[in-house]
Amino acid sequence: MRVLITGVTGMAGSHLAEYLLSMEGVEVYGTCRWRSRMDNLDELKKEGRLNVITGETEAVPPDRSDSSKLNLMEADITDPFSMKRVVATVKPDRIFHLAAQSYVPVSWIAPAETLHTNIIGEVNLLEAVRAAGIDPIIHIAGSSEEYGLIFPEELPVKETNPLRPLSPYGVSKVAQEMLAYQYFMSYGLKTIVTRGFNHEGPRRGEVFVTSSFAKQVAEIEKGLRPPVLYVGDLSSRRDWSDVRDFVRAYWLALEKGTPGEVYNIGSGVAREVREMLDILLSMTDVNIKVEVDPARLRPSDVKVLICDAAKFRQATGWEPQIPFEQTMKDLLDYWRERV
Ligand code: NDP
Repeated sequence: MRVLITGVTGMAGSHLAEYLLSMEGVEVYGTCRWRSRMDNLDELKKEGRLNVITGETEAVPPDRSDSSKLNLMEADITDPFSMKRVVATVKPDRIFHLAAQSYVPVSWIAPAETLHTNIIGEVNLLEAVRAAGIDPIIHIAGSSEEYGLIFPEELPVKETNPLRPLSPYGVSKVAQEMLAYQYFMSYGLKTIVTRGFNHEGPRRGEVFVTSSFAKQVAEIEKGLRPPVLYVGDLSSRRDWSDVRDFVRAYWLALEKGTPGEVYNIGSGVAREVREMLDILLSMTDVNIKVEVDPARLRPSDVKVLICDAAKFRQATGWEPQIPFEQTMKDLLDYWRERV
């Protein structure tokens, strides 16, 4: 089985690649851009499990692909030609479409770029699949940010809840989901959408709140900054899972999910950002002062997110396995090794 991961250099993509490489009979391909940060693939590189394929125009010749390695190909999802080339070359049986402008605050600064990357990027992928005349199962990584404004009586939130996105990112993910539905209905493409709630762990981009706090703690421990940790709104509540539990869920979504369907994925437990911070602070011996940085406050934030993942659990049997404290410890250790 050939699997293509768009956005394999990202947090989820790199963990998914490692997970798939641990399976028998799965050939793994991933896309990167010429300017992609490659450090999330360092482990694979160190283990000699990275196979960089460039410049292919025909189906990947057997001597160029390697089932024991991540086969890496260059593509930008906003470029229809590169997407067509990769999809026609790999002819995947399964696609995990993870590539995206994935950071909510950037979507306020660059809304047009966010909408273009996330929406047109998916059009390019789906059109590339049609042009290649293949029939893969396609995972689309939607987001809990699609729900946006949620009223207290709607918690925990189910797939049937109205979507009231509060950021251009949320809007882009709603559109991604609608496109998946439309291509399923119009052309029979086997799309499966997950609305993922927050997931964290090693390799989380440093702009995200968990990673930002963990990195600051690691820097303070090394004396690289004064013992003051800058925060935004600590009262928001989020449903956090571990990215390694999430990539198992993504795999199960395509193994056991139904094309045309949408599934929530999340833990069902909401924690305040403050609680996440306290967990991190309990893991260090340094005395750290916490200060609010107004620049970290968002124009219209989603206050509470709690996931009802009953539909997904029933369909796939998925259960999260990694406790949140472990996720945060691994994230802190990740930064301790890097700063
Ligand atoms: P990351 O930001 O870590 O990774 C995003 C990936 O997309 C990177 O590999 C990046 O490549 C790639 N990418 C961005 N723009 C382009 C482009 N124009 N062409 C090709 N590749 C591009 O995100 P995550 O791994 O956390 O998330 C994966 C997916 O899951 C995203 O779609 C995200 O929106 C979604 N999601 C994530 C959640 C989370 O909590 N993590 C929650 C819900 C949904 P490069 O290295 O070149 O920038």
